[in-house]
Parts: sequence; C-alpha cells; structure tokens
Amino acid sequence: MSITLPLHTPSKLSQSELVELDKQLLWHPYTSMSNPIAHYLVKGAKGMQIELANGQKLIDGTASWWSVIHGYNHPHISQAMKNQIDDFSHVMFGGLTHQPAIELGQKLIKLSPAGLERVFFSDSGSVSVEVALKMAIQYWHTQGKPNKQKFATPRSGYHGDTFAAMSVCDPVNGMHGLFNQALASQFFVSPPPAGINKAIDQAYLAEVRELFTQSSGEIAGFILEPVVQNAGGMRFYNPAYLTELKALCDEFDILFILDEIATGFGRTGKMFACNHANVTPDIMCVGKALTGGNCSLAATLTSDKVALGISDNDGVFMHGPTFMGNPLACSAANASLELLMNYELESMIGEIQSNLETALAPCRKLNSVVDVRCLGAIGVVELKEAVEQKVIQPLLVEEGVWVRPFGKLVYLMPPFIAQKTDLDKLGLAIFNVLTKLSN
Ligand SMILES: *Cc1c(COP(=O)(O)O)cnc(C)c1O
Repeated sequence: MSITLPLHTPSKLSQSELVELDKQLLWHPYTSMSNPIAHYLVKGAKGMQIELANGQKLIDGTASWWSVIHGYNHPHISQAMKNQIDDFSHVMFGGLTHQPAIELGQKLIKLSPAGLERVFFSDSGSVSVEVALKMAIQYWHTQGKPNKQKFATPRSGYHGDTFAAMSVCDPVNGMHGLFNQALASQFFVSPPPAGINKAIDQAYLAEVRELFTQSSGEIAGFILEPVVQNAGGMRFYNPAYLTELKALCDEFDILFILDEIATGFGRTGKMFACNHANVTPDIMCVGKALTGGNCSLAATLTSDKVALGISDNDGVFMHGPTFMGNPLACSAANASLELLMNYELESMIGEIQSNLETALAPCRKLNSVVDVRCLGAIGVVELKEAVEQKVIQPLLVEEGVWVRPFGKLVYLMPPFIAQKTDLDKLGLAIFNVLTKLSN
C-alpha cells in the first residue's frame, strides 16, 4: 500500500528562529557547541552568486571549498541529476552495476595521466585517501613486503579528517597533538621549497633520499598534494619536484601517491596538477570538484601494476562503502566532466589567473600583506598575522562577497565561470577589508 503525503513545505519559522535552531542543534565544520556562532542562512545559489535569506547576494570566491567549478545550479548538471532521479537514485554496488558509474570510470581513465587504469569510487576525499593508503599496504603485502605499512609525506600537507588521512596531515597545524595516542605515526619530510619557478634544491631531495635510505623497509607510499599544498598553507612549488620525487620512490620501492582532491579538474591550469610535470602517480585521489560540487563523490585511481598486484595474490581489495558508486553522484560527475571536456581549459584558467593577478595586485601595497601569489584559478593573499574569522567574515559579507579566510591566508578559488568583473569585485572587497582591519 502506498501513502500520499503533502509535499514538504518550507518552514514557517522566521529567519532568526532558523539561525537560532541551527546554533542549538547543528555542528558546523570546526565549531564549538558551547560558544556557537551564527551562520549565514542561504536561500539559493546560481552561477557566481549565493543568495542569503535576507536577500543579500554574495559573489562567491570559494566555489564552496573549491568544488563548484561551473558555478551553482548549472542547468546541464541539474538536468542530468533530475533525469537520473527519475530512473533511480541509488542501488548498491555490491553485485550490481550501472551505466553512470561505468561511463564515469571511462571518463576518469581518459582524462587522467596515462598509466592509471582502474577506479575505486567512494563518498568523500578523506575516504579516497584511506582507500589509497590501504591499496599501498595491500600491494606491498602481496609483494612479500608486509612490513611496509607506514607512509612518508611532506609537512604542511592536508589530506582529510579521518584517522589515516589525519596521520599524514601536517603534524603541527593538523590535529596530531590532540589525537596523538590514536594516530599512526608516519614519516615527515620538509615540504618542497616554495616558489613555482624556483630552481630545484638538491638539498631537499637529499633529505628525502636520506629518509628513504633509512626507512624504506617500513614505507608503503609517499603521499603529497601535487604543485599546491592547499589547506595546509596554500603553498606553490615547482612541478619538477614531482618528477624527482617519483624517481626516488621508484628507486626505493615506495608507491607514489598524489592527492589531487583540491588540484584536480583544472584548478591549477591543467586537468590535473601532475600534468604540469607529465608525471603519472601509482595512485591518485580525486574528489571535491568531481561532481562540479553538486554532491559528494570521490575516487581513487591506480595502475594495473597495483590493482592486479593486489588482486593476483590477496584476491580482493578490502574496502566497500555502502554508497559506493552512487548513481546520482555519478550522473552529476558525468555531466560536470562533459562540461569540463568542452572548455578550452588551459586558456580559460589562464585568463582567470591573469584576472586574479590584476584583481589582487593592490593588496601587495598593504603593510599587513607579506605575499600575493596566483596559480591557475587560485589567488592567495598571505598576511603577516592571522586574522580572526569571526572578525573578518562579517566585513567580507558587508562588501558583498563570500570569501572564507583561514589563519594568515585570504584566498580566492572561484568557479571557472568567474568573469573579470567578478574577480575585480572580489579583489576590491579583500583590499577594502584588509585596509579596514589595519586601521
Ligand atoms: C578537501 C581535501 C581532502 C578531504 O576531502 P573531504 O571531501 O573533505 O573528505 C583531502 N585532500 C585534499 C588535498 C583536500 O583539499
């Protein structure tokens, strides 16, 4: 028997009642429940704009944590999702399969560097990192090297909030202090020296070689964010390090794992950041922009060597999330990648980079600013001192923009549809707010 309910109707609660309830009930990222802050209530989002319930329209400079690359509510993606809902939103991936997942696998293999041949879907970036680490451990297990269960990684990295992912985040800025008894201990090296055009520092490579020489018997993989270390500090480094680090990994029997969750799908000006160096990793994680920021989906890609190595000996790979390969998410990702493949990606992102450079140039003159740097669709203003989010956030909203600074970093990672006028407004808003704060 089926029952018919009236359609869900919008709440009769006032805006302020909703915000109060939110404070009472809901945890937001990295927030306190005893000292909750009011969050901005959103009514809608379209293109470059987020509309608040009070009617204010904000130009978005964050692409909602770098994921909404085509802008909000893109008709091509929304329609693909609606069509998929009419077919089926979900079936389990154990024992069943479907066209949206198969086609997405095909697209990912086509777009990613040659040599990546197999795809494991999961629900979030952090889990795709967990999967990558498990793949590496299982691979060495089958190669008769069961002691290789640890990981090496540069400091200043960010790989997610789950336990194994946390263990390879920056040990100081990350959450190691709090969870130190619970986290696996890993091997840290310095981050690749900053500066996208800075010549390779042999001393840096010697440091990595030294670690590998000492400990490669325990190290299953070396994991890093290619070219840009994102949430760990918005640091850019010379892509040529990837070539050198991959060679070192090969020499010492260590899998080279690239976390492209933030950098993948065009953000740095190439489809993947590792394309800047023509390097193929053994394992690659993608997430964030995979669905064009419409819903959560991530994937871990690997080579035949790793995939078949695991399968020939261990038989199966030991992971299987409930919502693996969710058809609705896959349909969003297929539609997003179709758009991406139709863009003149390099010239599109090149134009954003030059517009970002112009828009943020005035910030260079401010005393509170130590550096302004841009790469692809990433623009960073680094400050001398950290600013408090609760102080700077309302000032940015007053200026009509959605920008979410952290620590010493005020940055833009806008949707790729950002026009020069949008970026000029975002740059001016940041300039105005930083000027206000230094007075
Ligand atoms: C955001 C991010 C993650 C974690 O992804 P979630 O979807 O938040 O779990 C991992 N690595 C990098 C580089 C990221 O930027």
